[in-house]
Amino acid sequence: MKVTLLGTGSPIPDPNRAGPSTLVQAAGQHIVVDCGRGCVMRMTAAGVFPPFVSAILLTHLHSDHISDLNDIVTSRWIMSPNPIVTKIFGPVGTKQIVEGLRTMLSLDEQYRLDHHADLRSGPGMQIEVTEVSPGDSFSIGDVKVVVGRTDHRPVSPTVGYRFEAEGKVAALAGDTVPCAELDALCASADVYVQTVLRPDLVDAMRKMLPAQAPRLGDILDYHSSVEDAGQTAARAGVKTLVLTHYVPAMQPGQEADWIAQAAKHFSGKIVAGPDLTSLEA
Ligand SMILES: [Zn+2]
Ligand SMILES: [Zn+2]
Repeated sequence: MKVTLLGTGSPIPDPNRAGPSTLVQAAGQHIVVDCGRGCVMRMTAAGVFPPFVSAILLTHLHSDHISDLNDIVTSRWIMSPNPIVTKIFGPVGTKQIVEGLRTMLSLDEQYRLDHHADLRSGPGMQIEVTEVSPGDSFSIGDVKVVVGRTDHRPVSPTVGYRFEAEGKVAALAGDTVPCAELDALCASADVYVQTVLRPDLVDAMRKMLPAQAPRLGDILDYHSSVEDAGQTAARAGVKTLVLTHYVPAMQPGQEADWIAQAAKHFSGKIVAGPDLTSLEA
């Protein structure tokens, strides 16, 4: 099982980091979890062209986690020589997002149908949405996926995913504060991927940007800090903790500094790095 950080950024634009997105590859499947800004470029860099994506899983419907969903569904359709169904799994609300997306893309869909006879002979852009709830499980090929509740309130519902395949386990939490359900989702996982922020650096930003201070302050209460992620990893007994979704953006060379905060609480392996950082479970 291979886990690749396609995008390690956040809502704040960064020239070097795509938006939140992670690729899980196991048992011949290529599963994309969240699809933030630029994720299709990164996916391609990881050797997975859009038609090869087995399924797209969304942890929640914050814009930074879904902003390139349109790019994946469109490029899958227009790049595939045969009819192809795009499978999207996400929390309640995902159907509404995809309905809106289809409306947004309807002019483009018509342009392409008008222009390409072979596309016209097919069924058009096919998207299959499955809304999932905590406790659900499903399979993508031979990869078992378990859905767990996370806590990113006031954003609700939000979920994390536990992948089981090839005798390995990867847990992808998405945006959440620590909670018992999160501990259960990543219990004894080989790899636990957590979106994180650094309260100390966010506080420094608040002092430098007083006009933005209230909004920056708001983000502190619904994300795991790097130290929180270390504590969750320790409680859950995971082997490797992977940090992503760096808020504020982690600058090159600061990896050790971020890792040290998690290492205060967790003695296992900790990974942080640029987009396309990958590891084998
Ligand atoms: Zn979020
Ligand atoms: Zn986020």
